[in-house]
Amino acid sequence: MKPFAIGVTKLLRDSSEPLHFELEGRIKDAFVSFSKVPEGEPVTITGVVEPVHQGLLVTATIKTTWQGSCVRCLEQAEGPIEVDVVELFEEEGQGEEDTYHLSGDILDLSELVKDFVVLELPVVPLCSKSCKGLCVNCGQNLNEEACSCSKDEIDPRWGKLSSL
Ligand SMILES: [Zn+2]
Ligand SMILES: [Zn+2]
Repeated sequence: MKPFAIGVTKLLRDSSEPLHFELEGRIKDAFVSFSKVPEGEPVTITGVVEPVHQGLLVTATIKTTWQGSCVRCLEQAEGPIEVDVVELFEEEGQGEEDTYHLSGDILDLSELVKDFVVLELPVVPLCSKSCKGLCVNCGQNLNEEACSCSKDEIDPRWGKLSSL
């Protein structure tokens, strides 16, 4: 039901040993304008939970894959997401409203996973860093083939720049 939840009863009672974990699940509605984590795409989080005096400290790495449309050539683009997190989960009723909280003796990482994945989604996705995009005149995908108009007819907006 909750793939990113960990029972921490033992950890809260006997705080000598940190708890190592490796979880895999799916997240919903993780998107920005031009990229997203597709529903059904596996998301993994691997790390360790340690008791600290305000609650539990989670140190972990989240991994998944994003997909989107390349902003230059409009073809499908995708790439890896890998993000390191260090976050405190406070006990219920403690600390600030906007921090993460334990619910009883359950540590549910799903909100944290989604928050950090969404922050890593590319706002300007590219199919590759060297994508040549589309010709502004004829719409030819210049990654596939050069077009005949590309050399002669420079867009007037760029004309000034190229004469500098
Ligand atoms: Zn592209
Ligand atoms: Zn062209």
